[in-house]
Amino acid sequence: MKIGTKFIHAGVEPDPTTGAIMTPIYQTSTYVQEAPAQHKGYEYARSQNPTRTALETAFAAIENGQFGLAFSSGVAATDAVIKLLQPGDEVIAGNDMYGGSYRLFSKVFEKFGIKFHYINMQDAENIRQYMNDKTKLIWIETPTNPLMNITDIEAVAAIAKSSGVLLCVDNTFASPYLQNPLDLGADIVMHSVTKYIGGHSDVIQGCLVMNNKELKEQLYFIQKSCGAVPGPQDCFLVLRGIKTLHVRMQRHCENGEKVAQFLRNHPKVEKVFWCGFEDHPNFAVAKKQMRGFGGMMSFILKDNSVDAAKKLLSSTKVFALAESLGGVESLINHPASMTHASIPREERIKNGLSDSLIRLSVGIEDVEDIIEDLEQAIAGV
Ligand SMILES: *Cc1c(COP(=O)(O)O)cnc(C)c1O
Repeated sequence: MKIGTKFIHAGVEPDPTTGAIMTPIYQTSTYVQEAPAQHKGYEYARSQNPTRTALETAFAAIENGQFGLAFSSGVAATDAVIKLLQPGDEVIAGNDMYGGSYRLFSKVFEKFGIKFHYINMQDAENIRQYMNDKTKLIWIETPTNPLMNITDIEAVAAIAKSSGVLLCVDNTFASPYLQNPLDLGADIVMHSVTKYIGGHSDVIQGCLVMNNKELKEQLYFIQKSCGAVPGPQDCFLVLRGIKTLHVRMQRHCENGEKVAQFLRNHPKVEKVFWCGFEDHPNFAVAKKQMRGFGGMMSFILKDNSVDAAKKLLSSTKVFALAESLGGVESLINHPASMTHASIPREERIKNGLSDSLIRLSVGIEDVEDIIEDLEQAIAGV
C-alpha cells in the first residue's frame, strides 16, 4: 500500500456498534464489567481507551512499526523512554536538540543519577569515544532543531546494535511522511505529535513507536504507571490530522524549498540553514534517509544584530510570532529567547546557535503570500 492510502486508513475500523466510519470519542473514565475481572479488554481509561487504541494502531502503521503508544505530550513520551533507565546509566545525546528535551535531561533526570553526554552527531563515528559499559541509550534528533543538522540514522543504529545500546530517534521535524527511523535500524521513534502529525496547532501530544514486544511492554507499563496519557478528544483530533499528513507534507516541502531559495538569494540574508541545499554538509545523508526536506529552516541576516532579528520577527503578517511548528499556518520564532531559552547561552553559542538566528516553520498557505511577507519584513530592517 502506498503512503497516502496508508495514512488515510491507518488504525481506523468502522465502529463495531454502529458502523460509524470515524472512530468515536469514547469520553469515559471507566468500563462496566459483567462480573469481577470479566470485561471487554477495557478496565480503566488511564490503561486503555478505544479512541486511543485506534490512534496507537495508526501511529504504528505510519511509522512502519508494530506498536504505538500515545502520551499527553512529546516531552511525556521522552520522559517515558528515559524511565527505562536506572541510576548510573549513561545516555549519549545530540548537542543541538529541542530545548525541552535538554531541560528534561539536564534538570530533571541528571539529579536521579543518569548521566548525559551532549555531542556533535554529524559524524556518527564521534559517538564511539563516549561509549562505555554504562551506556544504555543513544538519543538523536534529525534534522536538528533549529540548525537543521543531519545525523546518519543507519550509521548510528549500527553502532548502537553492535554494543546492545537502545537507539531512540526524535522524528518530529521530518514527520513519518519524510523519514522512518525504524526502517533504518532505530529501536524507538518518538514524535511531538503536537507538530506535523497533529498539524493544526490545536493539540499537545506525543507518541512512541517500536517493533520489539518486550520493549513495548516496558513502555506500556511506564505509560500506565506514570499516567501521562492523552484524552480521547485529543486522540480523535490527531486521527483526523493523520488523514491529511501526506498532502500537508507535500505542500510543506514545496513551499519550504521556494522559501529557502528565496532567502538564500536575498542580498540581506547571510546564511540559510535548510537540509535540502546540495551544499548542506550532510546533504548526501539527508537525501538517502529522507523523502523530502520539509518546511523547517532557520537563517541569519547580514546585519547580524539581535535588534535587526527582533525587528524582523515583530513585523511579519502572514507568519505568526510563536513557538511550535508543523501546523498549516506559517510561524516565525526566535530560538535564543523562545524555544531554546532553556539552554544556557554559552552552550548555545558553542553549538552554533547564535542570538540572531531566526527559525521558520513554513506553512501551507499560498507561497506567494509567504514570500511577500518575508520580503516586506526583511526590507524593514
Ligand atoms: C516540540 C518538540 C518536542 C516536545 O514536544 P511537546 O509536544 O511540546 O511536549 C520534542 N522534540 C521536538 C523536536 C519538538 O519540536
